[in-house]
Amino acid sequence: MKVGEPEEFIIDGKRLDGRAPDELRPIKIEAGVLERADGSCYLEWGGNKVLAACYGPREIHPKHEARSDRAALRTYYRMAPFSVNDRKRPGPDRRSVELSKVIRNTLESVVFLHLFPMTAIDVYIEILQAQAGTRCAGITAASVAIADAGIPMKELIPSCASGKIDGKVVVDLFDTEDNYGEADVPVAIIPRTGEIALLQMDGNLTQEEFEEALNLAVKGCKDVYEKQKEALMKRYGGE
Ligand code: ADP
Repeated sequence: MKVGEPEEFIIDGKRLDGRAPDELRPIKIEAGVLERADGSCYLEWGGNKVLAACYGPREIHPKHEARSDRAALRTYYRMAPFSVNDRKRPGPDRRSVELSKVIRNTLESVVFLHLFPMTAIDVYIEILQAQAGTRCAGITAASVAIADAGIPMKELIPSCASGKIDGKVVVDLFDTEDNYGEADVPVAIIPRTGEIALLQMDGNLTQEEFEEALNLAVKGCKDVYEKQKEALMKRYGGE
C-alpha cells in the first residue's frame, strides 16, 4: 500500500466521492465564452476546470508547417501552475507534449482539414484545475470550441475514461482513484458511427475487465455527447 492510499475505494456500493461505479462526475459545458477566440468552451467536470480556445483557419506561421493538401491542426495542452496540489512548474514538459499530440490525433479524425490547405487551426487547452481525466475533459472542450468556431467537422467528439479500483471496473476516475487505482482507460468516440477515436490503457486488466471498461467508457462518452450538444444548442438555439 502506498502512503496516503485509502484502505477501501468502494464502501457499501459507493465510491469515496459518493458516486455509483457507473456514475460520472457532474459536467457543465458552456460554448462561446471568450470574445477574442474564433471559438471557445469552458468545461467543469467534477474538479476539472478547462478552457479551450480555437483560432482559424488562419495564416500559418512558421510557413514550413504549411501542408499543401490540408490545414495543420495544432493543439496546445497546458496545465496552469495552480491547477494541481504541488505547484506545477510552468512551461512545456514531456506530459503536456504527449497529451497535446494525443488530443490532436483524436480531433484529426473528425475535422475536415482538407477544406483549408495551407492554413493553421490552433486549439489551446488550458487546464485551470486538475482532478484526473484532464485529457478527456480537454478533448471534450476542444471539440466544442472547434464547433463554436464554425469549422466543419464530421461530428463532435466526446471523451470519457474508465478504470479499475479495488478490483472493480468503474467509470470516470477522480484523482484519488487515479493515483492508487489499478488501471485507467481513456476513450473518445465518434458517436454517430461508434468508431473509437482514442483508446489508451494504463495498468492491467483481464480481457473481460477490459471489455467492461470499454463499454462503461463508451456509455460515458454518450452522456458527455449530450452535454456537448446542449451547450451548442444553448448558444445557437434550435431544437
Ligand atoms: P489525465 O489528467 O488525462 O488523467 P494523467 O493520468 O497523466 O492524465 O494525470 C492524472 C492526474 O494527475 C491529473 O489530472 C492531475 O490531477 C494529476 N497530475 C498530472 N500532472 C501533475 C503534476 N505535474 N503535478 C501534480 N499533479 C499532476
